[in-house]
Amino acid sequence: MAAGKNAKLFSDAKKVIPGGVNSPVRAFKSVNAKPIFIEKAKGPYLYDADAKKYIDYCLSWGPMILGHANTKILTEVKKVMNKGTSYGIPTELETKLAQMITQAIDSVEKVRLVSSGTEAVMTAIRLARGTTGRDKIIKFIGCYHGHVDHMLVQAGSGALTLGAPSSPGVPKDFTKHTILLPYNDKKAVQNAFKKYSKQIAAVIVEPVAGNMGVIVPDMTFLKTLRSLCTKNKSILIFDEVITGFRVAYGGIQKMFGVKADLTCLGKIIGGGFPIGACGGRAKIMNNLSPQGTVYQAGTLSGNPVCVAAGIATLKILKSKNPYPSLNKLTVKLCKQISQTLEDKNIEHTINQIGSMFTLFFTDGPVTGYESAIKSDTKRYAKYFTQMLNAGIYLPPSQFEANFLSTKHTQTQIDQTISAIKNLKL
Ligand SMILES: *Cc1c(COP(=O)(O)O)cnc(C)c1O
Repeated sequence: MAAGKNAKLFSDAKKVIPGGVNSPVRAFKSVNAKPIFIEKAKGPYLYDADAKKYIDYCLSWGPMILGHANTKILTEVKKVMNKGTSYGIPTELETKLAQMITQAIDSVEKVRLVSSGTEAVMTAIRLARGTTGRDKIIKFIGCYHGHVDHMLVQAGSGALTLGAPSSPGVPKDFTKHTILLPYNDKKAVQNAFKKYSKQIAAVIVEPVAGNMGVIVPDMTFLKTLRSLCTKNKSILIFDEVITGFRVAYGGIQKMFGVKADLTCLGKIIGGGFPIGACGGRAKIMNNLSPQGTVYQAGTLSGNPVCVAAGIATLKILKSKNPYPSLNKLTVKLCKQISQTLEDKNIEHTINQIGSMFTLFFTDGPVTGYESAIKSDTKRYAKYFTQMLNAGIYLPPSQFEANFLSTKHTQTQIDQTISAIKNLKL
């Protein structure tokens, strides 16, 4: 794909940046393609270095729910930016964003702002361990919680595996307290609590998974996590870095009515700028330094430009409530994709909730890591490349979520479906 300027930019980048990219999946390796380089974006569209236009279904991995270069957000950001861009001293804006988050999510009474989702998770885990005085963390296979050392643990076979690191550079000692369980498997969690009850500091989960493709768990799974954590005085951490303000104003916990003790946020709450947040019950949050003794800090935490973009984004989401119409359009798109692929006799499953969905090339159902990896990733690579040629940018891996923005309309859906009709898979 990478012809002309894109190819030249990639070869230049590789000389000075490992793999030519600043985050691995951008290299398009798992779809056997060469990356495009982006020149600009507007609404639902990306424009690459060769001036080719794409409908964007990746949206910077989720944050751009209001579309690219949203005029209202840019206006707010410019206003704040003109006054200065970083002080390392508190601003009123930080309190405003924290208020908006605590008002949106019932279980969040206090918030600490950080600069990425990874940092939000690091903070939540340390806080859970510091609060409970316990070390073990239950993590689910296929859930991604940023590149935190002790969360970088891959799938092992069997129901209960004590984690081995999935990256060189992560000492075994760092992951030996991570208990790895299959997603959506209540029984496995019950057994783990039987075995380790008073050693478990926290259970961390994507309450709807987005990082092995979209998987909506069985409702009783989250309820079981809630009741086991309560019973054993362990802390339930919902990693809503993707889902917070994506599926509903207030995230999955609002939608499903299950409350976490700690919630990790990121992506949308920065409106396209680097941000993260860890929030939860005041009793737990008060253990964070300087009020408590669990240390956590950040030079650019609560950066006024990022926070202003976040506030502007949440304000629009709150006042416009675009969630029902986003859901409606996404359901429509998924139905049409499914129908088109059925007509072509192509095995597939589509998992969708609100404006996030994944098309898996397997006949499914996809309910966890084991069933997700049955997908035909070679076919996904072909699909990705042909769609890219047709001017449609999808996540460059089978195991990611697709997103719609409020700037996507029937026009983009029609173009997408007509591209799918032309596919040769
Ligand atoms: C993206 C993501 C993270 C990591 O956020 P970064 O800002 O990339 O560090 C953590 N958890 C989940 C569920 C995510 O989707």
